[in-house]
Amino acid sequence: MAAFSVDTIKCLTGVDLAEHNLPVMVLDSEKEGPAVWLFGALHGDEVNGVEVIHRIFKFFKRQPLKKGKIYALPIANPWGFELRKRENPFDLLDMNRHFPGDPEGSTSERINYAIFKFITETKPTVFVDLHADYIGAIPHIIVDRVKKHAQEVGEKTWEFVNKFGLTASEELEGYETEKSLSAALVNEAKIPAFTVELGGTNVISEPFVRAGVSGIKNILKYLDMVDYPKYWESETKIKTSKRLKLVEYVTCNESGIIKFLVKPGQKVKENKPLAKIKDVLGRTRDIVTAPADCYVIACTDTAVSFPGSFLFLLAAESPKIPESKKPKPSQILACPPKFQRNLQRVDKTWEGETKAEEPLKAEEPLKEPLKEIKTEKESPKEPLKPSKPTK
Ligand SMILES: [Zn+2]
Repeated sequence: MAAFSVDTIKCLTGVDLAEHNLPVMVLDSEKEGPAVWLFGALHGDEVNGVEVIHRIFKFFKRQPLKKGKIYALPIANPWGFELRKRENPFDLLDMNRHFPGDPEGSTSERINYAIFKFITETKPTVFVDLHADYIGAIPHIIVDRVKKHAQEVGEKTWEFVNKFGLTASEELEGYETEKSLSAALVNEAKIPAFTVELGGTNVISEPFVRAGVSGIKNILKYLDMVDYPKYWESETKIKTSKRLKLVEYVTCNESGIIKFLVKPGQKVKENKPLAKIKDVLGRTRDIVTAPADCYVIACTDTAVSFPGSFLFLLAAESPKIPESKKPKPSQILACPPKFQRNLQRVDKTWEGETKAEEPLKAEEPLKEPLKEIKTEKESPKEPLKPSKPTK
C-alpha cells in the first residue's frame, strides 16, 4: 500500500501565537511516476471538493496506487471555511484572484505565495482545483485562457480535461484570467491545471461529489496510477464537435421573481426565452432570451432578481460576441465581488436585438380586484418544449 503522510504549508502566526499552517495530504506509491494535485475550498464556502478529496484518499486504503504521488490540500482557505464565507476574512479578498501571490503583498497574497511555491516545488503533472458554483448547474469544468507562450501546456490541460468525463468550457474572454490559481499555474508555471465546478455552496451534495470523485479516478487511470475498469462519463456531459466557450453571464433588467424556463444541460436556440421575471402579483415584467445558440451550464441559485442580476451561465461552440459589447468598468465595480465576473460582458444593447417580446410598458394602475388579474396568458409566444438532458 502507498504511504500516507501529512505535510504542511506554513502561512502565518496568529495574535494568540497559534501557527496557521495548511495541512497537505500526501499519498506516495514510493515508485517514480506522475504527481497529481487536488485542491479544495479555496473559496471557503465551496465544500464539495473537501469531501471529494477525502473519498479519493479513502479509495486508496483498499486500492494500490501503482506509481507516483497524490497531493491534496482539502481546505485551502480554512479561515473562510470556518465562517462559511467565500473570501479570506483576514483581508476580505477573493484568494482565487490573487495568484501567484506576493511575499510582500496583502495577507491573502502572502498566503497564496506560500501555497503557489509549495505546489510548484512538487512539480505537478496535473492540478485539479475543486470549486462549486450553483446547485442549478451541471457539474462542469472551466479551462483558463492561455497566454501565447503557454499554448502547449494549454493543450496538455485539455487532454486531461477531456478525460475527466464532464462538460468543459473555456473561460470568458476579458476575465481576470491570470489571477486564478489554475490560470497562474498554466501561464506562469506551465503546469496543466483546470477548475472543476461541483454544485452549490455550503452544502455537500452527493451527485456532485460523485462526479468529482469519478472524474479524478479517470485522470488517475489515464496516468496509469490506478487499475480501474473503465472511464466514467457524466450523463450530463454535453457532446459537441468543437470546444465550448463560456458565452455570457446573462442578466435581466427588472426586479422580481425568477421563473426559469430552461434546465441546466439544455440546448437553446438564439432568442429563445430562458426565464421570465414576475412581479409580486405574478405578472410578467421581463423575458430573458438566449443571446446565441448555446447550452445552459448553470441557472442561478436565487429566486429574486434585480436589474443586472446574474441569471445564467451559458456556453457555445462558436459564440459571436462583438468587442463593442463589453460592459463599462462602472458596471463591474458596482457589483458585489462574487458577481463582478458576471458583468464582464454584460451588454444592454443585446436587448434590442434579441428580445422576442415587445418591450414591456409601465403597468396601468389596478382597476379590478386582484382575483380577476390574469397572469398565465403572458408566456412567450412560442410554446416551450419540455427540456431533456443533453447526452
Ligand atoms: Zn470557487
